[in-house]
Amino acid sequence: MANDASPAADGAAPSVNGAAYPITDHTFDVVVVGAGGAGLRATVGCSQAGLRTACVTKVFPTRSHTVAAQGGISAALGNMGEDDWRWHMYDTVKGSDWLGDQDAIEYLCRHAPAAVYELEHWGVPFSRTEAGKIYQRPFGGMTTRFGEGTAQRTCAAADRTGHAILHTLYGAALKNDTNFFIEYFAIDLIMDEEGRCRGIVALDMTTGTIHRFRAQMVILATGGYGRAYFSATSAHTCTGDGNAMVLRAGLPLQDMEFVQFHPTGIYGAGCLITEGARGEGGYLTNSEGERFMERYAPSAKDLASRDVVSRAMTMEIRGGRGVGKEGDHIHLHLDHLDPKILHERLPGISESAKIFAGVDVTKEPIPVLPTVHYNMGGIPTNFYGEVLTKKNGDPDSVVPGLMAIGEAACVSVHGANRLGSNSLIDLVVFGRAAGLRCAEIVKAGESQAPLPAGSADKALSRLDRFRNANGATPTAELRLQMQKTMQNNCAVFRTGEVLDEGKSLIHEVWGGIGDVSTKDRSLIFNTDLIETLEFDNLITQAVVTMESAANRTESRGAHAREDHPDRDDKEWMKHTLAWCDEGKGQVTIDYRPVHTYTLSNEIEYIAPKARVY
Ligand SMILES: Cc1cc2nc3c(=O)[nH]c(=O)nc-3n(C[C@H](O)[C@H](O)[C@H](O)COP(=O)(O)OP(=O)(O)OC[C@H]3O[C@@H](n4cnc5c(N)ncnc54)[C@H](O)[C@@H]3O)c2cc1C
Repeated sequence: MANDASPAADGAAPSVNGAAYPITDHTFDVVVVGAGGAGLRATVGCSQAGLRTACVTKVFPTRSHTVAAQGGISAALGNMGEDDWRWHMYDTVKGSDWLGDQDAIEYLCRHAPAAVYELEHWGVPFSRTEAGKIYQRPFGGMTTRFGEGTAQRTCAAADRTGHAILHTLYGAALKNDTNFFIEYFAIDLIMDEEGRCRGIVALDMTTGTIHRFRAQMVILATGGYGRAYFSATSAHTCTGDGNAMVLRAGLPLQDMEFVQFHPTGIYGAGCLITEGARGEGGYLTNSEGERFMERYAPSAKDLASRDVVSRAMTMEIRGGRGVGKEGDHIHLHLDHLDPKILHERLPGISESAKIFAGVDVTKEPIPVLPTVHYNMGGIPTNFYGEVLTKKNGDPDSVVPGLMAIGEAACVSVHGANRLGSNSLIDLVVFGRAAGLRCAEIVKAGESQAPLPAGSADKALSRLDRFRNANGATPTAELRLQMQKTMQNNCAVFRTGEVLDEGKSLIHEVWGGIGDVSTKDRSLIFNTDLIETLEFDNLITQAVVTMESAANRTESRGAHAREDHPDRDDKEWMKHTLAWCDEGKGQVTIDYRPVHTYTLSNEIEYIAPKARVY
């Protein structure tokens, strides 16, 4: 693997608790952490700009969660009828329930068509219209003429759009000679005293060796943290590691209370059962066999919007009418439908139900549960991808040396609620923007100052503490407690009382980390250790999510409070910023104003010549 072998200044191996962890040093211009859609797009951009670029990833690039995206990627191409990026922008601002930053949303929607054509030219096998253009399907919330008609804006490669994009981007990265560090687990950021990010410390999981990367710019593209919840459609690897690194670096996360749920994830496994199942006539029942949606939404019934169905399901479970041994889920019936129709129209979910719930959909109901689907919150950034913090009263103060993109970031284009197919486009537009920004502010091959003394010590003592953790509670037990607490107390049904109870329960789980037990003391493919590091990352985000949710006393987008049912723009049209004290788990909350200004009159500013397609 090619890299610059020039050692960092403190190349000596520190000794932690008597155990030596020899360090291999690397120096690059840019280090991208994550090889999902966002990380790979930024990697390609930086490599193309002539910057020495490393991409560090804990899973093989094409196994990143982006691979699972089915529905598609939005862009106002107008291939299926009239469309305009301004209508896309209107829908996205409205969909965000007015919490999205409008400068960033404008950047997203204006650049979306070019970003999709770029993917096409790199080889993404999009589905086609008769005329040979990219096929586009309608998606919820996507309209024409500012809400008047239905837009067909979501570009699709059959129902495997994420798969097609990820494989194409990986090919593009290989073509541009990126240095991949695959199955390297990034443990922590290296920050200097001035608050600049200088690199990362990572564990090579296959050899158990420690690697320190020094870079002019670190780009976090580590994805969401769906796995803080019991039921999530995201991969088990979605543990928000980058978000937790940011918190440990003393920086804030933004809008963590906004978590998007999908009503029908398979109970336990969390795999998605598409809305199409109810579209074909499927319906939900409680333990009394009642079609309860008739009570909650008399006309739309089972096809009411995602948040309404999710909330109704949760009310049934909380009211003691859930199904199963623990009464903690709901039944989705397709067994009344003609097996021929199921076979023709829903073959994929019939197979998923068989594999993940052991259910034959022609004969039995599928056990389902409202399931975490997307994290709107994350690392605050501007539309260049630069990480922001609030410093000396400046809410848009840039953290030097650090960028974030993709689901890990909160740009914020999704605000309080993301529209379907707006995440994949967010990945490539802002992945590209980050590459362009690096091309502007990072100088290829520039010599870098030595790292601060003991730059890896903090990361290594954390690693060592968990590797030798000698307590009484296995990680899996703590993780389950956390996931159940988040599912019960911080999901779709939120009241002050439920959230306050959640706060004390989640802090209790947080306290349990002191008593965690790991059994495997080796360093090579030590999944016990990796899962513990991931749990530690998750629990900090869980605490921050719960506290942010309890703090916001209004309903907006995905954050619906029974005790504060209305949106309160006067008091709450602002982003939550939350810091977490590492030692005590104490959360501090502050705010950033929403950017309600657009950039239409300042086109030169957002799109200087270098940035125009
Ligand atoms: C089932 C499903 C279907 C979806 N369908 C759609 C859709 O149709 N349209 C749409 O727009 N959106 C969809 N989404 C949302 C969208 O797919 C995701 O938001 C998006 O793919 C996230 O991409 P990402 O690049 O930010 O992160 P990911 O693809 O999650 O990649 C994260 C990367 O970070 C790396 N990483 C993480 N932690 C570490 C660490 N500690 N050290 C080293 N590397 C690390 C991982 O190895 C991985 O490469 C869907 C999501 C799911 C779960």
